[in-house]
Amino acid sequence: MPLSDLEKNILRTKGVTDAALGAFGEKGIGSKADFATIGDAATLSALTGLSSEVASAVMTWAVGAPAASVVAPTSGPIVVDGGDVVYCVHCKARQPKDYSSGDLCPSCGKQAEPILACFWCGSSGPGKFCRGCGGEFVPTGELDLAVLLKRDGLPKDEIPKKLRAMSAAEKDVLWGRVRKSR
Ligand SMILES: [Zn+2]
Ligand SMILES: [Zn+2]
Repeated sequence: MPLSDLEKNILRTKGVTDAALGAFGEKGIGSKADFATIGDAATLSALTGLSSEVASAVMTWAVGAPAASVVAPTSGPIVVDGGDVVYCVHCKARQPKDYSSGDLCPSCGKQAEPILACFWCGSSGPGKFCRGCGGEFVPTGELDLAVLLKRDGLPKDEIPKKLRAMSAAEKDVLWGRVRKSR
């Protein structure tokens, strides 16, 4: 089934030009379902020459937002995990009730929470949990230990718990293995 007029009009609102719409046909994109086959914005962009901005707008419309995208703070309300109070890491000011992960501290103007890297999937972001895979962030200083435990085959949920439960001596042993693997 070809793209309907409505679908074409929606694509135009995403920034797809008529020339690009014509190119869709040449590349075999004939229905909304074809975007699911394409899979992601980068592939769509490579296939059709659309800018990555337009391609990602089209893919978000056609197949939904990619699971691994880092949610921009401006893209909508983000519920603070667990609803607990957040304190600025720079000036220790308590953040307002409507604080969202990624917001700037009203007191000192810096990002209230550090950006942490995920030991599991490698993406990074603010908050306590990775927006890419849902894994709990570990302290930056223990990232290498968490990666090592992942390589050991521990499940994602267990690793932050295990690190918290470990004694300094146990961590030293792990650090020894991290250094050897470098
Ligand atoms: Zn602050
Ligand atoms: Zn992750």
